[in-house]
Amino acid sequence: MKQSSQLRTTQKFAPKDEVSKNAQLLIRAGYVHKEMAGVYSYLPLGVRVLSNIENIIREEMDAIGGQELRMATLHPSEPWKQTGAWDSVDVLFKIQSRTEKEYALGQSEEEIVVPIAQKFVQSYKDLPVALYQIGQKYRDELRAKSGIMRGREFGMKDMYSFHETQEDFDAFFERVKEAYFKIYTRCGLQAKATEASGGSFSEKISYEFMVITDAGEDDIVYCDQCDYCANVEVAQNKEGDSCPKCNNSNLKKAKAVEAGNVFDLGQKYPKAFNFTYQDKEGIEKHPIVGCYGMGTTRLMGTIVEVFADESGIIWPAEIAPYDLHLVVLGNKDKEKESLVKEKADEMYIALQQEGLEVLYDDRMELSTGVRLTESELLGMPYRLIISEKTLEKGAFELTNRASKETEYVPTVQLIAGKIFKGSRN
Ligand code: ATP
Ligand code: MG
Repeated sequence: MKQSSQLRTTQKFAPKDEVSKNAQLLIRAGYVHKEMAGVYSYLPLGVRVLSNIENIIREEMDAIGGQELRMATLHPSEPWKQTGAWDSVDVLFKIQSRTEKEYALGQSEEEIVVPIAQKFVQSYKDLPVALYQIGQKYRDELRAKSGIMRGREFGMKDMYSFHETQEDFDAFFERVKEAYFKIYTRCGLQAKATEASGGSFSEKISYEFMVITDAGEDDIVYCDQCDYCANVEVAQNKEGDSCPKCNNSNLKKAKAVEAGNVFDLGQKYPKAFNFTYQDKEGIEKHPIVGCYGMGTTRLMGTIVEVFADESGIIWPAEIAPYDLHLVVLGNKDKEKESLVKEKADEMYIALQQEGLEVLYDDRMELSTGVRLTESELLGMPYRLIISEKTLEKGAFELTNRASKETEYVPTVQLIAGKIFKGSRN
């Protein structure tokens, strides 16, 4: 994408009321636009980031047999009343139409997905089944102070699975946990799973996936030698205690953000909707249900919180909107400048032919200082500079955004090789 033909969405300042690092950087860099507290629009650059996150999640959910669907977000009130959630879920947005009919906005979708499954699952032969979607959720959060990490409108992947037996459910539950860890790793994040109580959902076991960051709202104690992790609120152990699981180290305390969770819902929802299937013996039974949430926009915010420095964002390779930021520098000598520009235009095409996604800063009318500052703020994993100096050298200046290491690389093939190697690390 040539920046000369792209809408310029960078901002000098973030709104004054915006306290979180993720929102400040994302607004200044032009990835999101704030509509009101807890509600953001995603601008073209932001959509590329979000799509990358969504695609990673999609691939990993498909890999464990999840089937994608897209459920309504404007809900009839009846199923919410049937489960009791109409009155008990405090974050539920309720809407009244001009004819005084009541609706809910989807904050989670058990009330929609369970009746869908009920309609199409008749016998044990139709089980197990796992349905998921990636889309908008609405919650009347009291405090929306963590930028895109806690929105009133936000993106979520929610999956729901239906099983005949507890054993089958347990096996799937483990596969989802593994898939979640793969997703966090591909997003460049390290997550730990805490065992937590199921809250309002059930008494059954659930897990929260925690990513350590000062921007998080939860306190955890964890072991850095094994996978032990617990929420401070519920933990039996505290900071400094020896690890109850491996005994190899003392527990550490940290702030963390909940980047996903999985719940065993048991038969609660099938019972509420009188949803049964016929088992092998022809007996009507309620399936066992699991639900698995992961905030897509919260993940985007978390990545910014974890990967940023004083100059801006540092996108991990798989998340970055572009692999490379190509910047052609201007020159006082306009004849030289047009030669350099010609070379850069060729380079832009050649890099794409090597399979790279390139953001090309060809805005010669802006000062070099402004453009290089903006490049660091935007945070592509690599920056490639073409200038009179680099042409004289016969090599291009390639800088790694994270390490700030610069090297001079002579050919397009070598540049592509280095970037692809970098993204596999
Ligand atoms: P929290 O304790 O942070 O409010 P939750 O327990 O309410 O989270 P779930 O209802 O399980 O979260 O939703 C699944 C996932 O959706 C969460 O793990 C989180 O990643 C994301 N999420 C939840 N609420 C929000 C929100 N208001 N804004 C952005 N993402 C959210
Ligand atoms: Mg919540």
